[in-house]
Amino acid sequence: MALVTMRQLLDEAAKGGYGVGAFNVNNLEQVQAIMEAARETGSPVIIQASRGARKYANDRFLYHLMQAATEVYPEIPVALHQDHGNSPETCRSAIELGFTSVMMDGSLMEDAKTPADFAYNVRVTHHVVEMAHGRGVTVEGELGTLGGIEDDVGSGEVHLTDPDQAVEFVERTGVDALAVAIGTSHGAYKFTKEPDRELLAMSIIEEINQRLPTAHLVMHGSSSVPKELVDLLNRYGGEIRPTWGVPVREIQEGIKHGVRKVNVDTDLRLAATGAIRKAFAEDPGEFDPRYYLKPAREAMKKVVKARMEAFGQAGHAGDYEPISLEEMVRRYKEEGHLLTTD
Ligand SMILES: [Zn+2]
Repeated sequence: MALVTMRQLLDEAAKGGYGVGAFNVNNLEQVQAIMEAARETGSPVIIQASRGARKYANDRFLYHLMQAATEVYPEIPVALHQDHGNSPETCRSAIELGFTSVMMDGSLMEDAKTPADFAYNVRVTHHVVEMAHGRGVTVEGELGTLGGIEDDVGSGEVHLTDPDQAVEFVERTGVDALAVAIGTSHGAYKFTKEPDRELLAMSIIEEINQRLPTAHLVMHGSSSVPKELVDLLNRYGGEIRPTWGVPVREIQEGIKHGVRKVNVDTDLRLAATGAIRKAFAEDPGEFDPRYYLKPAREAMKKVVKARMEAFGQAGHAGDYEPISLEEMVRRYKEEGHLLTTD
């Protein structure tokens, strides 16, 4: 049994000075690829599901896949996280299902498309913090909006995070982790040229980290979109336009400045689809799904392992024992965020 809260996982990452990859899942092969990578590198890990994933796979299937992961890989601390919750109700249902962490994305209204104002964001996030912390569950909030639209989430507009607001937001809501917008987008098409520090607005992370040194920062849309994965996909009939993601060295720079959770989804999608296209092209006579799902799973595992090593989480799986949800409730009461009102 190695289910942990994301708060503990991120606290430990802060102590160790590393970041933890949060990988999205919709199905069995993704869960297996991520857990196998975690075992081979000895990494703690965050597995997350969007609302789209919960709908695609059905909640109960996803939950039990994740439960199976903790049984098969008992040595790996794993946090189960709701990615981009659009309302307190979505977060509540995730908590009831057994997730140990939820994201309340109040940067957007409940439709997950319309940018929300600061007051709404504070109100709805604080509400979820009270509900979740009362059960020991971690909360991630978001300030500012990312570009791109994925799984039906996103306004398509970029609004960079304002560091002054970030300080006020963390103080007023009591969130455990804060997603910041620094100019990245969800999906494969993040940048039309290799991004530099300007384009990535890394200075926002540095400033927030200076002013909130104990806050756990989260980078969304942080796939690196490696050229070799795009090239492989295109070589076997794919049509991915030239595109750049977030370079791993910039993520490592962020990790030096308080980034503890790094969301990666697109890179696994590219790896899996490239492997499947290659398998289809190489033997059109094959029709056993295992023939192409196996190399897809291998390709995803390879990407996840590389990220775990780059983020520094490799080798840290055995550092700590999981803290119970009850103990987390007690700690939150001490912190005082269960009693505040706005
Ligand atoms: Zn996101």
